[in-house]
Amino acid sequence: MTTPLLELQHLTKVYGGGFLKRAPVTVALQDFNLALHEKPAKIVTIAGESGSGKTTLANLVLGFIEPTAGRILYRGTDIRQMDRHQRRQYRREVQAVFQDPYEVYNPFYRVKHIFDMAIRNFNLARSKDEARAMVEEALNVVGLRGEEVLDKYPHQLSGGQRQRMMVARAFLLKPRIIVADEPVSMVDASLRAMILDIMIRLRDEHNISFLYITHDLSTAYQIGDEIHILYQGTVAERGDTITVIEQPKHPYVQLLINSIPVPDPDVRWGGEHILTVDDEELRSSVQSGCRFYPRCPYREDRCLQARPPLYRVGDNHEAACYLYAEQSVQTNKTLVTKA
Ligand code: ADP
Ligand code: MG
Repeated sequence: MTTPLLELQHLTKVYGGGFLKRAPVTVALQDFNLALHEKPAKIVTIAGESGSGKTTLANLVLGFIEPTAGRILYRGTDIRQMDRHQRRQYRREVQAVFQDPYEVYNPFYRVKHIFDMAIRNFNLARSKDEARAMVEEALNVVGLRGEEVLDKYPHQLSGGQRQRMMVARAFLLKPRIIVADEPVSMVDASLRAMILDIMIRLRDEHNISFLYITHDLSTAYQIGDEIHILYQGTVAERGDTITVIEQPKHPYVQLLINSIPVPDPDVRWGGEHILTVDDEELRSSVQSGCRFYPRCPYREDRCLQARPPLYRVGDNHEAACYLYAEQSVQTNKTLVTKA
């Protein structure tokens, strides 16, 4: 097996509980593992409700925050032990697209500034003409033309144009991975479809992988190859997207998916909040063991003793639940939760 392009090993981030131990401790992400190979490029979905740790994961991968434990390897090297050259390569090859692209723009500059900066910082072009051609190509990939957008100020563009410009800027850098944190949650349905389509094309035609972060399972169902579903910072279930969404095994994921009222692809499901109880309160009430215990219809005493590991429940399909601990029940146990 070749070295993965990106490997996340036991990645953990804990907030608070510092020297004075006054601040409450939040385990924002716990023991997250992932291996992403350079080829074939994949869209890897990280799904979860608000507060489940998705942005924490994105910020760790982008190097904005340091892990409390675990590590991030890129092309086999820990990102904290990279030399200047490797770090620069990482910063170029791993790009970000965020939910609200307005914040990324400086309101006082015309939007072409973000492209000029990228080209200058990474020495991408030898001449003005070459730079111009590169920018034009990147804009074309997202369905824009330079003359429509480059001389405008950020506020003169629509939200959709700004979002597509960010994808174009990322594309300009010839990344291998784009970390997209809720890239379509602020845009309308037609634009959402367009952006998801651009992601698929970047994957298929340019071999760019995505860490696609979303709270919306319907878009994951449309485009994702592989999904990791987070519940309060831990992975409840992971596997091939279609399999996980069509045959969920973890009680939480079953609840999440059964809470979707109509199987209409235009109806968004997997909303930010399906939980009616105080989530944060529950979070601190479960010190060890399964975080879903307080709400689980299948809970057992052992669920409180230790956090369940991921058990294999099928081909490339794992669930962190003791219901699947015994080999014999692994393949044929089907849970039925009432909607
Ligand atoms: P998501 O993106 O899935 O909504 P986040 O990764 O933003 O979730 O947050 C995960 C948890 O970590 C939440 O409980 C959040 O309140 C907490 N958290 C995030 N950032 C910080 C921070 N800088 N300091 C303290 N707690 C934080
Ligand atoms: Mg977030």
